[in-house]
Amino acid sequence: MAEKVIMPKQGLQMTEGTIVQWIVKEGETCEEGKPLFEMETDKLTITMDAPASGTLLKIVHGEGDVVPITETIAVIGTPGEDISAILAEAGTPAAAETAQTAQETAAAPSAAAAPAASSYDFDVAVIGGGPGGYVAAIRCAQYGLKTALAEYREMGGTCLNRGCIPTKALLHSAETYEELMRSGKDLGIIADHVEVDYAKAAARKQMVVKRMSGGVEKLVKARKITLLKDKACLTGIHSFEAGGKTYTADKLILASGSEPVRIPIPGIEKDGVMNSDGVLAMETLPESVVIIGGGVIGIEFATLYSSFGKKVTIIEALPRILNTIDKDAADTMRALLESKGVVIHTGAKVVEIQDGLKVVYEENGTRQEAEGEAVVVAIGRRPVTADLGLEAAGVQKTDRGFINVNDKMQTNVPNIYAIGDITGKIQLAHVASAQGLTAAANCAGREKKMAYDIVPSCIYSNPEIAAVGLTEEEAKAKGLQVQTGMFSTAGNGRSVILGCQEGFAKVVTEARTGEILGGVIVAPHATDMIAEIAVAMKAEATAEEVSDTIHPHPTVSEIIMEAFHDLEHLSVHKL
Ligand code: FAD
Ligand code: NAD
Repeated sequence: MAEKVIMPKQGLQMTEGTIVQWIVKEGETCEEGKPLFEMETDKLTITMDAPASGTLLKIVHGEGDVVPITETIAVIGTPGEDISAILAEAGTPAAAETAQTAQETAAAPSAAAAPAASSYDFDVAVIGGGPGGYVAAIRCAQYGLKTALAEYREMGGTCLNRGCIPTKALLHSAETYEELMRSGKDLGIIADHVEVDYAKAAARKQMVVKRMSGGVEKLVKARKITLLKDKACLTGIHSFEAGGKTYTADKLILASGSEPVRIPIPGIEKDGVMNSDGVLAMETLPESVVIIGGGVIGIEFATLYSSFGKKVTIIEALPRILNTIDKDAADTMRALLESKGVVIHTGAKVVEIQDGLKVVYEENGTRQEAEGEAVVVAIGRRPVTADLGLEAAGVQKTDRGFINVNDKMQTNVPNIYAIGDITGKIQLAHVASAQGLTAAANCAGREKKMAYDIVPSCIYSNPEIAAVGLTEEEAKAKGLQVQTGMFSTAGNGRSVILGCQEGFAKVVTEARTGEILGGVIVAPHATDMIAEIAVAMKAEATAEEVSDTIHPHPTVSEIIMEAFHDLEHLSVHKL
């Protein structure tokens, strides 16, 4: 899909700019994020980067042209692509002639970026229809590639069916119940006889899942992607088998995802011991639960059950829960969960599960036990690579069993890509999708690379936790000159209205330059708000620029602004 390059607006007062020089010439390839042209405004001369990778199909405005902001100045795309509509929209008389030039460029031997007009059944075949695979398949189809997608279960993968969506649907029911039970009277609403009908909550969760999964299937079909509802297995570097038939593809994208890790201890097979799949399939609520693992899944399920008023015990092997996030955030969450009656054992090693569902563990050298009607094991997820035919294609794995990829998502076999949880990078749906878009761009000959330094991560506890970039500890460990700004939800009107006084926003910056290194938020709507810090980091905004941005009142987002003000000890609402 061709992309317009427009005259950018560099500053509030800018209305037009002058093209000084095209660094990449017409017909040459350009790379997203790499210099494309030099321009001049009334204030500065600046080198602009290419907004996409591909071939510079047409330069609409040459050197010396003065062009109003937002006007199309060039088109990037794939050789052979018809860009006459874009040129016509840009009011370029050369539209027809350029379409012709593009065809010629396609025919030229230097058109290495063009997807091969192949004799394969498909240009690209994607194995796995999770948030990595289906997103990659749709983007490939948008790029005009003949695409197949193999998925033997429900469309949407773990995320839509056994992960992100069903957990958050159940959490919504749980939080609504908790809100009515705990603060109903404070809010002036007398909600007598509030009861939980868990079967109904589970049915609603399933309705949401079905709707989202069905929506994805419709998108896939509308894009004319060939949907193979079977398990697929590589049979060579350009071939795979699905439903008893063999197909060929120029490029393949592996996106088979992950599954829960099993803990190798006696008693793990007992009835009532389950992983996240088991929890999400339940139609009744257990009165008590022992959760093994105080990571993201463990804490979200602890939130779910404790919000429904059930007894929860967490057994975590490491010295603290949520060990990958900011320590202040993890400590705050521990205190909040404990205040709701959740019992948390850290530095505890599970030994076995006995009858009656007694989880035996060692803590500080002594054997202890915790009993529950159900035991939930949430100790991480491993890649699904068995039966994928990796050996037939010579695709290599890492020591930990994940598939080795470079930053273009290529495996050691250059025409085979891998994305999502099987790559073992960061096991999040939005990372899988971003990797899928990267792989699709590379399959279409538009060079694109993955970076993992600005990835928001969210925990749907109550209140929510969201973080991006480096934690304070990580930044210090890197030897950076770190400055932090912090602001509590106790000083924020909207948070107090919503009943959250224990949360905070913390921002981490480099002291000399004001570069934003990261941030963490523990607050209502933290998961929605973290994108503000992520965008600021991506746009390379300084702390001062975010500080000077007017935030709406009364909103929880003001805690981010106040945390930035606090970097200079200038937070107005903090003593
Ligand atoms: P998956 O989603 O696992 O999809 C892989 C797909 O491939 C599956 O549908 C599978 O059936 C299919 N498949 C496998 N082998 C084959 C084959 N041989 N042929 C055909 N098809 C095959 N992440 C977030 O970002 N936010 C959250 O809130 C969140 N919550 C979560 C909650 C839980 C309880 C869990 C378990 C996970 C959660 N995650 C969350 C993580 C998220 O679900 C995963 O990171 C994401 O689904 C990974 O996407 P994927 O495309 O790599 O793989
Ligand atoms: P995790 O890695 O987040 O946490 C696992 C925890 O179990 C760790 O704290 C670990 O120390 C502990 N552990 C491991 N072995 C143990 C043992 N024998 N006894 C006691 N504790 C043990 O893994 P998870 O919680 O299973 O989640 C899996 C993946 O799913 C994560 O990568 C996560 O990103 C993703 N996920 C994301 C979200 C979200 O984004 N909101 C929600 C759920 C899951």
